[in-house]
Amino acid sequence: MAIQTHDELLTTIKDALQACGYVGELGGGSLQTRTPMTGEDLFAIEGTTKEQATEMIALADEAFKSWREVPAPRRGNVVKRWGQLLAEHKHDLGLLVQIEAGKSISEAEGEVQEMIDICDLALGQSRMLYGKTMPSERPGHRLMETWHPIGVVGVISAFNFPVAVYSWNTANALVCGDTVVWKPSEMCALSALGAHALLSRAIADCGEDQNISQLILGDRNVGEVLLDDPRVELVSATGSTRMGREVAPRVASRFGRYLLELGGNNAGIVTPSADLDLALRGIVFAAAGTAGQRCTTMRRLIVHESIADELVDKIVAAYKTLTIGDPRDESVLVGPLLHQGAYDDMQQALKTAKEQGGDVLVGGERVLVDDSEKSFYVQPAVVRMPEQSDIVHNETFAPILYVMTYSDFNEAIALHNAVPQGLSSAIFTENNSEAEIFLSASGSDCGIANVNIGTSGAEIGGAFGGEKETGGGRESGSDAWKAYMRRSTNTVNYSGELPLAQGVKFL
Ligand code: NAD
Repeated sequence: MAIQTHDELLTTIKDALQACGYVGELGGGSLQTRTPMTGEDLFAIEGTTKEQATEMIALADEAFKSWREVPAPRRGNVVKRWGQLLAEHKHDLGLLVQIEAGKSISEAEGEVQEMIDICDLALGQSRMLYGKTMPSERPGHRLMETWHPIGVVGVISAFNFPVAVYSWNTANALVCGDTVVWKPSEMCALSALGAHALLSRAIADCGEDQNISQLILGDRNVGEVLLDDPRVELVSATGSTRMGREVAPRVASRFGRYLLELGGNNAGIVTPSADLDLALRGIVFAAAGTAGQRCTTMRRLIVHESIADELVDKIVAAYKTLTIGDPRDESVLVGPLLHQGAYDDMQQALKTAKEQGGDVLVGGERVLVDDSEKSFYVQPAVVRMPEQSDIVHNETFAPILYVMTYSDFNEAIALHNAVPQGLSSAIFTENNSEAEIFLSASGSDCGIANVNIGTSGAEIGGAFGGEKETGGGRESGSDAWKAYMRRSTNTVNYSGELPLAQGVKFL
């Protein structure tokens, strides 16, 4: 039996958006919203035209001229207030994320918690936009770096973290003195309206200019306006590698900056000394959680041959206990795939895996929930693969875990690094030297490398991002803020003389 009627679901959305402070219309527009939980259409909201998007960039560009003069700690007050409002409306925004991305409420609210955490971090950062002072080689000179805002930051985000990644970019960009134009995933426009409304309220409460934050709603066509407009100094784009391949050269052709957070193909290595019960829990959450729709989902498992059968049996047994269904049911652990396209991609990958020698040990089949043909739920799959196959080099955005075995540790590292993507990685081991090698320059080639933790579930304090086809960008904590600023190297001469660098003589 359905958990809510369609009308009740629409009321939940209206109430949540109203609570977040959204005051616009819901309906009568050209952008159809939908929920993967039931496959039903929701509201058709107003999309943004290219002309309107260009106007928004102009407004953000104009607002930048005064926002950059606002002292950074005062800019920090806006993200502080945003964080407070997000905490107050964690459940409201979490509901919208659940409805559009199909996550459990715990994961959806966890996503909002990440937003709150980055607001805390960015508030502190607003007092720590440090530049260095270096010793000058010339007497009576001071050499230093100062950091300045860059201008309009265009943020393009993916469906699977519809609001958190936006906040990583926006909280940092705002304290750095930039203004933000956001093009969220067209699959999650309602969540975007909620997150954006909360920021608008924070800006109003702090008495700052509303134009520092703009929202473009629509698909890639309207998003492309951000790529080509020279007023957008930085395009921070999160999504598939396919998207990154289109974005990077277009932005580079006008010498714009880009920050890319693209697809992952994350692996875990399990060595003979590993605590298998701990590894099991880490692997199942990372591989099957969020129905395999995290950029950090574990997609490959590389296990020592001496423990492979035992571990694989445990994983298969655990997969058979996973509850699959409507994520509004709190006992459910695995929610829906986004849409039929995601389901078809999964079936195609499983077919190819079998053709390449794979043995599907569990899963892959569709699970009908409430007899609905419009939603796409699946049993997460585990596939035993030979060491060499092409399919394991691809990211299929669905819950498929490919298991391979190794005999020698160097071989495990080589298998691990033999894919084009480089986002997240993990090793399960009690052997200190294996752990250290994995984290060393000859170990994992990913942006994130974990020991005795799965590949997913990063904290905002560390820089987040990956290498190779994942795009090389870093967002969130550590020194990721530097991507949103420009560096100026300054030399001040207080000597009264004019000595030239490198002892050069002239005049
Ligand atoms: P997607 O690439 O289909 O879309 C992402 C966003 O890019 C959307 O807003 C879309 O409208 C926009 N877009 C697509 N083509 C564009 C173009 N030519 N110009 C401008 N905008 C364009 O990705 P998705 O299906 O929403 O998300 C899943 C993918 O995102 C997976 O590959 C996943 O690994 C990746 N992802 C990566 C990270 C990370 O931090 N590395 C985080 C989340 C998701």
